[in-house]
Order: sequence, then structure tokens, then C-alpha cells
Amino acid sequence: MRKTDRKKLLWGISISIAAVAAVIAVISLHARGERFGEIRSGIEEALDTLPKEYKDVLAADHELLEAAEAAEKSKDNAVAESVDEAEKEPAGRLAGGAGVPVDPTQKLVALTFDDGPSMYTEEILDLLTSNDSRATFFMVGYNIEKHPERVKMVLDAGCEVGNHTSGHKDLSDISRSAIESEVYDNERLLNEAGAEGELLLRPPYGLTNDTVKEVVKRPMINWSVDSRDWKTKDAASTVAEVKKNVRDGRVVLMHDIYKSTVEAVKELIPWLKEQGYRLVTVSELYEARGEELKDGHVYRYTYSAAEYADNIKNR
Ligand SMILES: [Zn+2]
Repeated sequence: MRKTDRKKLLWGISISIAAVAAVIAVISLHARGERFGEIRSGIEEALDTLPKEYKDVLAADHELLEAAEAAEKSKDNAVAESVDEAEKEPAGRLAGGAGVPVDPTQKLVALTFDDGPSMYTEEILDLLTSNDSRATFFMVGYNIEKHPERVKMVLDAGCEVGNHTSGHKDLSDISRSAIESEVYDNERLLNEAGAEGELLLRPPYGLTNDTVKEVVKRPMINWSVDSRDWKTKDAASTVAEVKKNVRDGRVVLMHDIYKSTVEAVKELIPWLKEQGYRLVTVSELYEARGEELKDGHVYRYTYSAAEYADNIKNR
């Protein structure tokens, strides 16, 4: 073969290889994009089935909690007489991790507890603090009014307090002025109880519409993992549901108004830590991954550590 022919042949081969590589790259990027799209649409679908069902069970749950609280209160009254005031509240109950900067390269997850505070909140706080972990509690007006001191208790544990409205109404189904009072009256109540400033909102049932987004001048935090504790009220299935769906950067929905949720948390917190997760508040989660929370927008999860690293690289 002549020298020029060989050169031509080599050129031909390299161009073919480059072309094949480019086609493979395009195909795999496309597949990856579709997979990502599938994951996202799966999350959306799961969220759509929740509200209608949950509306039905909530009223019954409310009555159950009232009865449990009443029983607990009569028990407490009997105990209180024999317990010294100083012994009741252990001093310095701060989360070990509070104030320590969150490492964005570590796996992060934000547990959230709705519909409280209740008689179960303190036990969940103890489980969090003894594991150097934090969470966010979205509190509802009628339960704050009964026990406003529980707001401070949550803050003292290094956890975040969020707003879950005054009366747990579907905000997408009421007037503008009703939305305003549901959201801002409850924020005022929380402010008075010690949770200062503008607070993140969790809309009841995760329901919003364009009017809600316009009226609510706060970031709205929904979830990407539904523990379904509200439906099953069973610790084992609550644990299983979270284990199956938790991923780096996700927000988990739970409720601190069920005994079964306390039992689930007992198992979940150590398991998540074993998997390498750090349990942070919602604000810490978004701040660590550099995603700004904007007023009137709805959030369900944030970037994973890998996506965060990509973002930094491409900035
Ligand atoms: Zn709720």
C-alpha cells in the first residue's frame, strides 16, 4: 500500500470510530434523560393520589389524638405531683450537630413531621437529638394553641419549625382572603410561640394552585417520599416505605401525631445514618445544595450530591 493510501485509510478508521462513539454518547444521554424524567413523573403521580384519601382519614385521626392526649394528661397530672420541677426538663437538650456546617458531598435527607405538635413530638425530638440529627416540624394552628410550649421545645432541639396553616384546609379550594388568614394567622401564632421570622409553609395535603402561589409569599415545601404513616399507621410499613424510596436530596413526609410513627422513627434514624445519610432540616438541605427557596414556589426535593457537584463544575 502506498503511504498516502495508508494515511487515508487511518483517517477513515478514526472518523468512523469517532462517529460511532458520538452516536453511543447521544443514545446513552437520551436514555439517562428519560430515566430521570421517569423518576420525576413517578414522584408527581404518587403525590396526586394522596390528597383525596388523606382528607377522609384526617378527621378521624384528629379525634384519636384528642382522646390519646386526654388520657396522657390525666396520667401526667398524677405523676407531676411526685416529680420535682427541676427533674422534669433535662438541661441543654441541644442537637449535637446543631450549628455544625452541613457537608454538601454527604448524602442528605430531610425528615418532616406534619399536623403536630402533639404528645409524640417530644419523643421524636429525643430520638433525633440522641442521634445528632435534625428534622422539620410543620405545625397546625389548633395543635399549637393547645401546647404552644412545644414550639420552643422543637427549636431548642435544633430543629426547624414550619407553618402548616391554622385549620388544615385545602388552600386550593378557598378564597384569597381565607388563604391569607390560614397562612399568616398561623405564622403569627408560631412567631408568638418563639419561631421567629418568615416560616416555610407546607400546604395541607400538598395542594396548591396558581392563586395559592400568588397569595402565599413563602416557599412551599411538599415531599418526594410519602411514608404513608397516615394511611397504614403501622411502624413496619412506614419504615419499609421510607427505606424503599429514600434518596439523597429528598424530603420525607411523616406525622408526629401517631404512636406508630414514633416506633418507625426509632428504627429509621439509625438505619439512615448507617446508609451514610445526614438528617437535616429543610432549610439546611436546600442551603447545602445551593438551591434557593423562592416565595410562592413549590419544592419536593433538591439536587443529589452528584448533581450538586455537576452544577458547581458547570457554573
Ligand atoms: Zn397535614
